[in-house]
Amino acid sequence: MAVDYKAPIKDIVFGYEVIDSYNILNKISLFKDFSENIVITTMEECAKFAEGVLAPINSIGDQIGAVINDGVVTMPAGYKEAYNKFKEAGWASISLPQEIGGGGMPIALSGGTLEILSSANLAFGLSAGAISAINFHGSDEQKSKFLPKLVSGEWTGTMNLSEPQAGSDLGTIKTKAELAENGSYKITGTKVWITFGDHDMTENIIHLVLAKLPGSPEGTKGISMFIVPKILINDDGTLGDKNNVQCLSIEEKLGIHASPTCVMEYDGAIGYLVGEENRGLHYMFTMMNEARIWVGGQGLASASAAVQGAAQYARDRVQGRPVGMSKEDAKNASIIEHADVRRMLLTIKSYVDAMRYLMFDNQLMLDLEYFGEDEVTKSLGEERCAILTPITKAWLSDLGVELSSLAIQVYGGMGYVEETGIAQYLRDARIAPIYEGTNGIQALDLMFRKLPLDNGQAMQRLLGEVTNQIELMKNGSDLMVSLAKELEIHVSKLSEVTMWLATKMLDGQLVDASAAATPYLKMFGQVLGGYYMGKAAVLAEKKLKDGDNEFYSDKLTICKFYIQQLLPIASGYASAITAGKEDLFNIKAENF
Ligand SMILES: Cc1cc2nc3c(=O)[nH]c(=O)nc-3n(C[C@H](O)[C@H](O)[C@H](O)COP(=O)(O)OP(=O)(O)OC[C@H]3O[C@@H](n4cnc5c(N)ncnc54)[C@H](O)[C@@H]3O)c2cc1C
Repeated sequence: MAVDYKAPIKDIVFGYEVIDSYNILNKISLFKDFSENIVITTMEECAKFAEGVLAPINSIGDQIGAVINDGVVTMPAGYKEAYNKFKEAGWASISLPQEIGGGGMPIALSGGTLEILSSANLAFGLSAGAISAINFHGSDEQKSKFLPKLVSGEWTGTMNLSEPQAGSDLGTIKTKAELAENGSYKITGTKVWITFGDHDMTENIIHLVLAKLPGSPEGTKGISMFIVPKILINDDGTLGDKNNVQCLSIEEKLGIHASPTCVMEYDGAIGYLVGEENRGLHYMFTMMNEARIWVGGQGLASASAAVQGAAQYARDRVQGRPVGMSKEDAKNASIIEHADVRRMLLTIKSYVDAMRYLMFDNQLMLDLEYFGEDEVTKSLGEERCAILTPITKAWLSDLGVELSSLAIQVYGGMGYVEETGIAQYLRDARIAPIYEGTNGIQALDLMFRKLPLDNGQAMQRLLGEVTNQIELMKNGSDLMVSLAKELEIHVSKLSEVTMWLATKMLDGQLVDASAAATPYLKMFGQVLGGYYMGKAAVLAEKKLKDGDNEFYSDKLTICKFYIQQLLPIASGYASAITAGKEDLFNIKAENF
C-alpha cells in the first residue's frame, strides 16, 4: 500500500509565479520565450514519467536495493528500464546548455522536475556534477570526448571526493596521481561512499576523482581533479579496455537502498587532469551551488510526497470522536476531523510551499549568475546565490527529515510499520542533511563566508529586499497589513542578531560565532520562508479578486498559517545565537 504519488503541478506552477520567474528570465535573451505554458507542459510530461515509471519501483528499490556480486553492482528490477526511459525523455539534461546537447531551459525549471522526480523516487537521483565540471573546466578535447554521452545519458558520472579519513575536511585526502605516458596520469587510492560508483544501467561510468600530485602543497591547496573512465575510450570514440578501477563493496544503509553507495578502488587507473594542477577543490566549489540546491530539493521532495500519503491516510482512517462533534456524526469521522491532525498536515503543507519558493528562487539566482547579460544582473545572481545556497541545502534537508517524521505521526502505528510505505520517506530523506557538505558545514559557510560578503552589505541588501516586501504588504488589505507586521518583528530580530554576530566576528570571537552557526541558519531559513509566504499571499489575494477559487483561498490560508503560527519560531532561535560558546564548552568531552 505505497503512497499514491500525484505530482502537485498546480502548486509548482504557482511557485514559479510567486518568484516572478517569467518577468525576470524573459530579460535574458536565452530565456526570452520562457513562459507558464512551458512550465505546465514540462511538469505534465514529467509527472507522467514520475507517476507511471519511477513511483511504482520506489518500494521495490527500497526492499531489494542494489546488490553486488563479484565486483559487479546490479540495480533492482525495473531500474534499468526506468533509466532508459529517463534518458530517452532527456530529463537529466533539460537545463543543460543547448550547445552541449542539453534542453537549454533555465536551471530554475529543473526545480519543478527535480521535485517531481525525487518525490516519486529519491534513490533514483544521479548527479550531473561531472557534466558541469567537465563543461566548465575541461579542455576542448575532454569536452568532445566525454560530454555528448554524459549529456545524452548513455554514460553516467560520479563525484569521488570522500575517503575514510577525509569527509568534511578534504584537505586530508591521500589518493595519489602520478604522471604517466601521453600526458595521462595513474590514479591510486580508495574512495568511499561514492553514489552510483558502479551500476548496470549504462555501458560506461565517468568518475571525477580528487587526488594529489607528488610535491603538491599540503591541504586543500594541493588537490587536483581527474577524469577516470570505468572503460577507457579509444581515439575513435569506441569503448576500449577496462580501466583499473573497481567497486569493492556497497554500503548497507538506512535509506535510498536503490542508490548504490560504493567503496571504489583505483589501482593505477588511467586518469586525465581537468584544468590546472592543484585547482581541483576550486573547480568543485564552482559547481557546488547547483549540487547543494539539488540536495535541499531532496528535502522538499520527501516532505511534498509524504504529506500526500499522510493526507490520504487521514481522510480514510476512522478513529476517535472529534471535539465538538455529535456521537452520531463521529461514527464515521476520520482522523482528519481532529484539530491536532489538521495541525500536522497544515504544518507540512505550509513548510513545503515555503521550501519550494526558496529553492526555485535560489535556482533563478543561479540563472542570473550564469546567464545574466550585464554585470549588475550577474553580480546580483552571484551574491544572492552565495547567501541562499547554504540555507536551501540545510534548512530544506533538515525540514525534509522533520516533516517526513511528522507525516509518520499522522499515520499513528501504521506509520511505523513498513507496509504503508510512509517510513521510507523518512529513511530516504535522512541522507540529505549529511551529504554534499553536512548541514553543520553549511551553517559555518553562511556564518564565516557569506555573512561577511562585501563587508556585510550583501546580507543587508537581502534583508532590505525582505523589508521592501513588508512595505508593499503594508499598503494592502487588513490581512496583508497584519501579516506584514508579524513578518517585520522577525526580520528586525534577524537583523539584530546579524549585527551582533558581525560585531563578534570583528572582535575576533570566532568560537562564539561558530557556536551560533546552526541556530542562525535555521532562523534565516524560517524568516526567508516568511518572506516568500508574504509574496505568495499577495499573489493569492490578487488572484482571488479575479474570481473565487478554492486553490487560491487555500494558498492564502497556508500563507497566513505559516506567518502567524510557524514564523514566530524564528525569533526563538535568537537566544541560542547570542548565548555564545560558554555552555557548549563547559562540559568536558568525556562527560557527554
Ligand atoms: C549515502 C551517501 C552518499 C554519498 N555520496 C558521496 C559521493 O557521491 N561522493 C563523495 O565524494 N562523497 C559522498 N558521500 C560522503 C559525504 O559527502 C560525507 O559523508 C560528508 O561529506 C560528511 O563527511 P563524513 O561522513 O566524513 O563526516 P565528518 O566530516 O566526520 O563529520 C561528522 C560530524 O562532524 C561535523 N563536523 C566535521 N567537521 C566539522 C567542522 N569543521 N565544524 C563543525 N562540525 C564539523 C559534521 O557536520 C558532522 O556532523 C556520501 C555519503 C553517504 C552516506
